[in-house]
Amino acid sequence: FSRLKSGLSRSSTALKDRITGIVAKKRLDEATLEELEEALIMADLGVETSAEVVRLIAKDRFGKEVGDVEIREALAQAVAGMLAGAVEALPHRAEHRPQVVLVCGVNGTGKTTTIGKLARQASEAGLSVMLAACDTFRAAAVEQLEVWGQRNNVPVIRGKEGTDPAGLAYEALARARAAGTDLLLIDTAGRLHNKAELMEELRKIIRVIKKLDMSAPHDTLLVLDATTGQNAHSQVEIFTDMVDVSGLVVTKLDGTARGGVVVALARRFGLPIHAVGVGEGIDDLRPFEALAFARALLG
Ligand code: GDP
Repeated sequence: FSRLKSGLSRSSTALKDRITGIVAKKRLDEATLEELEEALIMADLGVETSAEVVRLIAKDRFGKEVGDVEIREALAQAVAGMLAGAVEALPHRAEHRPQVVLVCGVNGTGKTTTIGKLARQASEAGLSVMLAACDTFRAAAVEQLEVWGQRNNVPVIRGKEGTDPAGLAYEALARARAAGTDLLLIDTAGRLHNKAELMEELRKIIRVIKKLDMSAPHDTLLVLDATTGQNAHSQVEIFTDMVDVSGLVVTKLDGTARGGVVVALARRFGLPIHAVGVGEGIDDLRPFEALAFARALLG
């Protein structure tokens, strides 16, 4: 989490300084707690979560004199406690060959990059991987996925520009099956400006691959960009309306002052956070670790 720590440092230094200023030589009274709550809200933890965190740390300390180090650690522990249910690596489902993972998200959030990183992790774990370039309308997206395929030395199934994404997904699954591939990662379109069309496209992909494997897709990941703050919340709402999202990947935590959004998202939607992106490189995908994350966030 050192990348995360340095990436979050701008925000966490500010948050750390604020917390230190707030608790300096003070008793933990109502006013101090209110100030702490406000500092957490400003770091994008969300109103409800911030209130709950402050309530938790106040339990044994209300009216007592406290130090800033103690308070920051207590806050980190409280935040980590709230995240406990959200920590869950993307499961490897050996009973399905291939395990089919549908990856969705708005364009630019880091879908393709995340697929490249996931492919790397799976390859390193000894699994065979195939990628399907089902964002068939953006030539650049297909090219980019191709590059990730080459970097990982894994096959990429692609069609001509404008190929029907569902047909391509079907073909990819058939080929992955025939090849005995362990993991099929499907990249999808993220054109939010036409929601109805996108929803139909995603649902059709799902319908069609079910013709080959009723249980597929086994995981439906939604990729979110942490730097978009509140937008990430509305993206979860929009995509969970369209498809059965099973887990989240939150990217760009290396360059944001808004890391707290991860806590708010986890609390609000009850979805597991499978991994976090902390850079543009192939190895910059980390498992989500609650306490390490909370400590990085709170300085
Ligand atoms: P897509 O349109 O959703 O497929 O998004 P891309 O995978 O093309 O990513 C969009 C941009 O975000 C690219 O420039 C990526 O290098 C960058 N990116 C993706 N993930 C991360 C991350 O975790 N950290 C940083 N700093 N950049 C990222």
